Amino acid sequence: MLTNYHSHSHYCDGKGSPEEQVQGALAQGLRAFGFSSHCPVPFENKWSMKAERMTDYLAETNALKVKYAGQIELYVGMEVDFLPETLGPKSFPMLDYCVGSVHYVELNQFGQPWEIDGSSVEFLECLDTLYSGDIRAVIQKYYGIIRQMVDTDPPQIMGHLDKIKMHNAARHLFDESEPWYVEEVEQTLQAIAKAGIITEINTRGNYKRDLDLYPSSWIIKRMHELNIPICINSDSHRPEEITASFPLAFQTALAAGYREVRILLGGIWQDVALENPF
Ligand SMILES: [Zn+2]
Ligand SMILES: [Zn+2]
Repeated sequence: MLTNYHSHSHYCDGKGSPEEQVQGALAQGLRAFGFSSHCPVPFENKWSMKAERMTDYLAETNALKVKYAGQIELYVGMEVDFLPETLGPKSFPMLDYCVGSVHYVELNQFGQPWEIDGSSVEFLECLDTLYSGDIRAVIQKYYGIIRQMVDTDPPQIMGHLDKIKMHNAARHLFDESEPWYVEEVEQTLQAIAKAGIITEINTRGNYKRDLDLYPSSWIIKRMHELNIPICINSDSHRPEEITASFPLAFQTALAAGYREVRILLGGIWQDVALENPF
């Protein structure tokens, strides 16, 4: 049973219309599919949906639910940025669900929100300028903001948990086995387990940058020990990416001990058997 609740269209930085996504989802054999454009944010950036597009987004995706009823279950969500005291899942009560993601840690050297999942050139410049290259301080800040979201404004789905590791590909910044890093992840997983939040296995880093999954397989193993529910999402930005790298995600989840995934079906989050269809 294939599902994907993390997807982007031309309403934000993805390619193709919501209907083209639905066609892609049908072609790739999905049972349920969720729209999750980047939510509007209170500053300029290159990839979020503009606030004035939101009414159209909700109308268009909700209309598709009706049009495709009987063929595929569709859900209207958003990938919501958590900005402490400013923005989070609670800001969007009209949605079926939220993927909660941390894309920003404070302000950069130009006084703009500092993206942790943008270009590595910009990330490293800011790391060196503001933090004298102290990646540990930045990562502690990043996981601290995630825990704040989990504790104060929990989403249904935790988005790409360890995405900040992607900059290791541009310059080796840290080893994931370093005790301070393991401890940050552990504290965060404990908070997620307590809150009962579904944590996605996000395949985008794998098919786009040839990286490991988000999160890494050792984290997925620990998630299983802590009984944290998972779902498998591609964070697609094109209709043809909807199941990209899914075989790796299924294999990794099974190897970590998972036998169930939690999916939204019939309007209810429920556990179904995890079977590798690939
Ligand atoms: Zn994201
Ligand atoms: Zn995304």
